[in-house]
Amino acid sequence: MFVLKYVIEHPWHIIEEGYHPEDNRLYESLMSLGNGHMGHRGNFEEDFTGDSLQGSYAAGVYYPDKTRVGWWKNGYPEYFAKVLNGTNVIGIHVEIDGDTVDLGKIQPENFTRILDMKNGCLDRSFTYNVNGKSFDFKIKRFLSYDMVEVGAISYEITANNNANIKFAPYLNGNVHNEDANYDEFFWENCSQSCDNNMGSITMTTKKTGFTVHAATKSVLRKGSDVIAAPVSIKEDDKYIEHVFETDLKAGENVALFKYFTLVTDRDHDLNDLSVYGEKKLTDAYKAGFEKLYADHTAKWADIWKEADIEIDGDIAAQQGIRFNIYHMKQTYNGEDPRLNIGPKGFTGEKYGGSTYWDTEAYCLPFYLSTSHEEIPRNLLVYRYEHLEKAIENAAKLGLKGALYPMVTMNGEECHNEWEITFEEIHRNAAIAYGIFNYIRYTGESDYLVEYGLDVLLNISRFWADRVNYNPYKDCYMMLGVTGPNEYENNVNNNWYTNLMAAWTLEYSLEALEYVKNSNSKRADEILAKYDFIEDEFTTWKDIIDKIYLPEIEELDVFAQQDGYMDKEQILVSELDPADLPLNQKWSWDKILRSCFIKQADVLQGIFFLNERYDADTKKRNFDFYEPRTVHESSLSPCVYSIIAGEIGYHNKAYELYQRSARLDLDNYNNDTDDGLHITSMAGTWMSVVYGFGGFSTADGVPKFNPFLPTNWNGLNFHMLFRNRLLVVGIDKENVSIKMVSGEPLKIEVYGRSYDLTADAQVIVPTDHNRAID
Ligand code: BGC
Repeated sequence: MFVLKYVIEHPWHIIEEGYHPEDNRLYESLMSLGNGHMGHRGNFEEDFTGDSLQGSYAAGVYYPDKTRVGWWKNGYPEYFAKVLNGTNVIGIHVEIDGDTVDLGKIQPENFTRILDMKNGCLDRSFTYNVNGKSFDFKIKRFLSYDMVEVGAISYEITANNNANIKFAPYLNGNVHNEDANYDEFFWENCSQSCDNNMGSITMTTKKTGFTVHAATKSVLRKGSDVIAAPVSIKEDDKYIEHVFETDLKAGENVALFKYFTLVTDRDHDLNDLSVYGEKKLTDAYKAGFEKLYADHTAKWADIWKEADIEIDGDIAAQQGIRFNIYHMKQTYNGEDPRLNIGPKGFTGEKYGGSTYWDTEAYCLPFYLSTSHEEIPRNLLVYRYEHLEKAIENAAKLGLKGALYPMVTMNGEECHNEWEITFEEIHRNAAIAYGIFNYIRYTGESDYLVEYGLDVLLNISRFWADRVNYNPYKDCYMMLGVTGPNEYENNVNNNWYTNLMAAWTLEYSLEALEYVKNSNSKRADEILAKYDFIEDEFTTWKDIIDKIYLPEIEELDVFAQQDGYMDKEQILVSELDPADLPLNQKWSWDKILRSCFIKQADVLQGIFFLNERYDADTKKRNFDFYEPRTVHESSLSPCVYSIIAGEIGYHNKAYELYQRSARLDLDNYNNDTDDGLHITSMAGTWMSVVYGFGGFSTADGVPKFNPFLPTNWNGLNFHMLFRNRLLVVGIDKENVSIKMVSGEPLKIEVYGRSYDLTADAQVIVPTDHNRAID
C-alpha cells in the first residue's frame, strides 16, 4: 500500500513542517479554506514561481466546458460543468529592498504551514534570508464563516536587519482553469476600478453569465502607526494593486492587513452588486481583523459543539476525523438550497464541483446528525427542483420517468462517458434512498407530501421502464448497466442496481399510501400531474415480486452481476504492490477484464438495506468481496469498515477507518494534489458513528451498539437527533449517552431500552464481547 506521512500528527492542526516545494500541490489541497460561499486552495499569498495550482472558487459559479469526445453518441451531454477558478483575491506581492519575495527562488528556513481546524484558518511562518539579511514572516488567513462573503489576511514581517519593505496587495482576474478542455478563458466583460480607498474587479462567466465582483482594501500597521493610504496604485488588464511601503529597522515589525469580499449575482441584484460588495468590504474593514476573526472563530466553536468527535489514545485517528468534519463543514454550510457538495469541494478543479450520488449516499447522514434539519432538507429539495430536468433526461434516452444525472450543476447531465451517463443509473436509487433516510431520521413524513412523492414516483416509473421481463425465467432483469464498481461496465443484472430499483418501487408505493391517507387531495394532484394510472402500480408490484437478484450459489453469496464468476479470480493480496493503484498502473482494458472491484457494490446494498440481512449473510459477502476490492474510490473503505464492525472484524474495521479518515492526509490514492476527496469524508464520519458507535435508527429510536477499537482509550461523538443534542461516549468500561439539550427521548443501547432526559445520562458497561475479533 502506498503510504507516506506528509503531516505532523496533532489533534487540531494539519501541520506541514519544513518546506516541501515538490509536494506543494498536495499541501495546497490539504490546507484549503472555505466557508460554503467561497473557497481557496492553500496557496501562498506572495509571488511563487514553484509548482502550484492556484485556486479560488465561488460556490455555484460554473462554466459549461464543451466536451471532448471523438465519437458522438445520441444522448451525450454537450458539456461538462466546471467549477471556475476565479479572481485571485489573496495575492500580495512583497519586495525586500526591491527584490521580490519568492519561495520558488529562495528556500525559506523554519517553514511551517498549518491548517488550524478549531479556528478555521491557515497560518504560515518562515524565515527568509536575502542579500545577507534575515526576515521572519507570519501570515494568517481565513474566510469568514460569520460574513461568508468576506475574507482577511494578516501578513506580518519582522526584520532582523534594516530594510525597505514593499507590499502590493492585489486582485488578479487573469486566471485559468488548468482542466479547461480547449485552454479557453472562461470569463468575459471585465470591469475594474482602483483608487486609494479600494480596488475591485467584476467579471462575468461566458455562457452561464454569472457575475462575480471581487473587492479589496488594505491597511499597514507598524507599531502604533496605521497607514491606510497606499503610496501608489497600479492597474493593468484584469489587475489592480495598492502599493504600501515602509522602512524597517532591525527588530521592527510591520503587518499588512488585507480584506477582500467576493459577491455574486446569484445572491444579489446585478445592478447593486458592486455597491453591495464595496459596502460589505467597508463593513469588514471597519470591524477590523481581530473582530472579524473573533466572530469567525465563534462560529467554528458552535460547529464543533454540535459536530465534534473526540478520540482518546490515537492521535492519527483524531486528526483524521476532525480533518474530515472540518472540510465537510467548510464545503457546504447548507444555507442555499441551490448548492450542493462537489466531490472536491473548493480544493481543486477535478470533478467540476458538481453534484453526484455521493450527496445522498454518503453526505446526507453527516448533515442529518451535525446540522439543523433545514440543512439536510435543502439537500433533498435540490433534487426536487431538478425533477423536470430529470424527466427530460430520461426522455432523451427514450425512457419514461425521471433519470437524475450522474453529474450535475443545474439538473442537466454533464458527464459524457456512455458507460457512466447511460449506464450508471443506480444513482437514481440513491436519491430515493436519501428521501427515505431523511424521513427515517427526522420523522418528517410530511416531506413526502410536499416534495418527496413527486420524486419517488418518477424515479420508480423510470425503473419500471428500464427493466425487461424475461418470460423464460419469469423474472425482471436489468441489462447494460454499470454498478457502483466502475471497473466493469455494461453488465447485466448488477445485484445492487436491481435490488435498489425494486426497493425504490416498494418504498414509492408505501409513500403513495402515506400521502393518500394524510392528504388525498395532494395525492390526486400528483397522480394527475404525471398521468399515473393504477395499472402502472400493478406492474410495479409484479417487478418487486419478480426482480432477478443474481447469486453465486456454490458460495451462497450475492453475485455482483451476471458472469462475475467467469472472470479469473485473483485476490488483491496476490497482486504485486507495484501494480497498485490499478487505475494508475494498468490499462483500462485490463482493469475491465479483471475481477477487481473499485468500491463497495454488493456491500453498498447490504449497507443501505442493512436490516434485511443477517450477520452470516453479511459475513459471507464481506469475506468474498473485500479481498477482491481495491478501494480505489475514496467512497469504498468507509462502507466496508462499517460492515466489518458489525460482523465482529474490529481490527479490519479500524484499518479501513484509518484508510478512509487519512485518505488525503496520507495520500493513499496518490491523487491528493488534485484536490481532496470531500464527499468520502462524510463516509469517514459514518464509519465512526454508524461503525464504532453502532448507530442505527429504524423506528425513530436511536440505537447504539458500540465497540471501541482496541488501541483507543475512548471515543466521544456529538450528534443532533430530532432537536436533541446527544453526546455518546465509549471507553473501556462504559458506554454513556448524555442529552445536552432537548426533550426526553427513548434510546437503545445493546438492544435494551432506556429513557433519556435532559442533562441526564445513561451509563451501560461496554460490551467487550463486541470488542473482540
Ligand atoms: C466513484 C463514484 C463517485 C465519483 C465522485 C468515482 O470515482 O466511482 O462512485 O460518484 O467518483 O466521487
